[in-house]
Amino acid sequence: MKQSHLFTRTRREAPKDEVSKNADLLIRAGYISKDMAGVYSFLPLGLRTLNKIVGVIREEMNSIGGQELQLTALQDKKVWETTGRWDDRNVDIWFKTHLKNDTELGLGFTHEEPLTVLMREHIRSFRDLPVLAYQFQTKFRNEARAKSGILRGREFLMKDLYSFSTDDAEHMNVYESAKQAYRRIFDRLGIGGETYVTFASGGSFAKYSHEFQTLSEAGEDVIYVHEGKRIAVNKEVLNDEVLADLGIARADLQEKKAIEVGNIFSLGTRFSDAFGLTYKDAEGTSKSVVMGSYGIGPSRVMGTIAEMWSDEKGLKWPDAVAPFAVHLIALFDKEGKVKAAADELYERLTTKGVEVLYDDRDSGAGEKFSDSDLIGIPQRIVMSEKTLAQDSVETKDRATGKVEMMKVESL
Ligand code: ATP
Ligand code: MG
Repeated sequence: MKQSHLFTRTRREAPKDEVSKNADLLIRAGYISKDMAGVYSFLPLGLRTLNKIVGVIREEMNSIGGQELQLTALQDKKVWETTGRWDDRNVDIWFKTHLKNDTELGLGFTHEEPLTVLMREHIRSFRDLPVLAYQFQTKFRNEARAKSGILRGREFLMKDLYSFSTDDAEHMNVYESAKQAYRRIFDRLGIGGETYVTFASGGSFAKYSHEFQTLSEAGEDVIYVHEGKRIAVNKEVLNDEVLADLGIARADLQEKKAIEVGNIFSLGTRFSDAFGLTYKDAEGTSKSVVMGSYGIGPSRVMGTIAEMWSDEKGLKWPDAVAPFAVHLIALFDKEGKVKAAADELYERLTTKGVEVLYDDRDSGAGEKFSDSDLIGIPQRIVMSEKTLAQDSVETKDRATGKVEMMKVESL
């Protein structure tokens, strides 16, 4: 993409009311735009990065047998009354609205209920199981505090996978494979090293759930990390019984702030019993389906990466999530020689399938470099009169700052 064509501008200052680092950087670099607290639009650069994150998650969900679908955002009150989750005393984050005939509707904040209802049409026998179904969908939550940029949106993207199994043993197999897939996802997205499988409250069906918590000062959660075992315990459940279960000592734990980037949850038969989702086993006996749910917030992950991979000059995207692989910067001369050579290099790189953002604007070097630092594309390639005199370009690695001269041909 030619930067002269990109409609977004970088800016010096984020909105005055923006207090989070991730949103400050992403707004200034032109990735996102703030409409209200907790409500952000994704601009072309931001959408490219978000879609890369989505792509990695999708590959890993498919690799464990996930089937992608898309459920509705508008939610039927009756369905949610069945589990008691329509009541604002039980769920305090609903956005609710009315049809013209005064029927109440909700905007989906999660999707266990409607998917369980849907599966009644499709699951009949043990041969149909297990089923893993997932989606990427905008969720709506009336979050009390929305001060963490895209880490906590009132409207945000979620990947939610739900599993349907015959029994606890089959469920635990699925659960383990999802846990491994989550590890691979966060490794591939460049935050694996700082992300800990964290024991958290399990609800009524399992002793624990597992959160994936990424260490960060921007985090709203407090966890206790066991560096040796690379696990952690959420502060909410830290007690002697948990320590005994995990075979760890309180003295070996370090208190840290962290961002919950994902979580996996055993649901038992809570939802299948509520809606009568059953299957026939090999003897023809009717049994309740055992369920699990597995969430990741791709937009929260993007904010987490921005918090972790950035410096005072701007963003430093890991390769897997950068909007472009290469930022080609041409410093034009009067005769137009640099422009001709840079245009040609741009064509050659894009023809080879390299994703290039080409700064072909008529701006000065200072502006081009500071914009490039802010936008944070991993590899910068500078072409100028000086480098052309040596048939070369200058490359700079955004993360390490390493600069090299390289012949155009070898590039
Ligand atoms: P939190 O405790 O941070 O509110 P949660 O326990 O409500 O999260 P889930 O309902 O399990 O989270 O949602 C699954 C995933 O969706 C979370 O692990 C997180 O990555 C993401 N997520 C949840 N709430 C938000 C939000 N308001 N904005 C962005 N992402 C979110
Ligand atoms: Mg929440």
